[in-house]
Amino acid sequence: MTENREPDRPIIEIAGLSKRYGPIAAVDSVDLTIRRGEFFALLGPSGCGKTTLLRMLAGLELPTEGTIRIDGQDVSMVPANRRPVNMVFQSYAVFPHMTVLENVAYGLKVDGVPKAEVRQRSEEALELVKLGGYGARRPDQLSGGQRQRVALARALVKRPKVLLLDEPLSALDAKLREQMRFELVNLQESVGITFVIVTHDQDEALSMADRIAVMNAGRVQQTAPPAELYEFPRTTFVADFIGSVNLIEGRVEASDPGRVTLSARAVPVPIEIEQDAGLPVGTTGWLALRPEKVDIAKQPPADAARNTVAGTVEEITYLGDASVFHVRVGADHPLVKVTIANVDRVTGRPFTWGDQVHLSWTPTCGTVLAQ
Ligand code: ATP
Repeated sequence: MTENREPDRPIIEIAGLSKRYGPIAAVDSVDLTIRRGEFFALLGPSGCGKTTLLRMLAGLELPTEGTIRIDGQDVSMVPANRRPVNMVFQSYAVFPHMTVLENVAYGLKVDGVPKAEVRQRSEEALELVKLGGYGARRPDQLSGGQRQRVALARALVKRPKVLLLDEPLSALDAKLREQMRFELVNLQESVGITFVIVTHDQDEALSMADRIAVMNAGRVQQTAPPAELYEFPRTTFVADFIGSVNLIEGRVEASDPGRVTLSARAVPVPIEIEQDAGLPVGTTGWLALRPEKVDIAKQPPADAARNTVAGTVEEITYLGDASVFHVRVGADHPLVKVTIANVDRVTGRPFTWGDQVHLSWTPTCGTVLAQ
């Protein structure tokens, strides 16, 4: 079942793709290239258009505008059953009256594949999803996770070039969902087929995908590997949607190669950021700063190169593995979040409500964004 990974040859090329329902643009001028053998995630909040985009790849919806090419072929108007893709649905509907093996074999039988081959390929697919000995069982004798694997085997048995997965883990409980993330990644690696998964769960996308397209209001805001999205978000939406972030509004005072200076009302001295893509001087810029990159101390930092601001601890959230301190740095400014990993066993609090503190961070760890 293994297809050669050729990461440089795209398997899916989407150009100018839109889907409108009356006045609503569910998908709005999307351009996207998905590489061969990639585990790709479409991530975004409810209503952002990710399911509509996936359904257009499957052929279950036709585009209003634009083209979809799969493995070099324009499939924009090709019906679902003639596309080299297969889809696993959120509800992983398996036929309850058939055995596991019959469920997996069904699609091949309908296609008229010879009986012996149907059996061999179905058994192989069950082995692949670790259900080798379960062929004779009925779906109601399986756990939720096992039923989901039957649905996966049923999709993989047809050897699609691309497997489309619509929130495949959302019906499972939290522990099982986490375990299935590993299984899906291992499965994808062993079959080498391109997986395109839709999810609204950022942890799911970050932990499984090679690359993620973050969508909002029908548009793709940024496409990048997980760590790049987290460390170098390109919009305030992406910065805020992936993980937790402090957004500090300011004005760009200087913009030199590799360095941006921002003045913010909440911070008395100019903020220095080491960043290549500068913004025009005089424009509004948002400093996106991750809470774990901010240091909190009773004294100002000794290192003059660190950006610093004084404030008062207003709220504390204890999360077990970490504590979040919410610090007031200005009367009308949102609280700045600072996360401290609880590396040692926590017996007391390093800071408490009302403490005067100094927050600081290095010029390398924030990003200035135009929007
Ligand atoms: P969710 O995570 O809630 O499923 P989503 O990101 O997958 O959301 P879509 O289901 O793609 O979003 O929907 C995008 C937009 O298009 C929404 O505003 C939705 O109401 C609208 N929409 C989707 N399908 C239709 C339809 N058949 N008719 C009219 N509007 C639709």
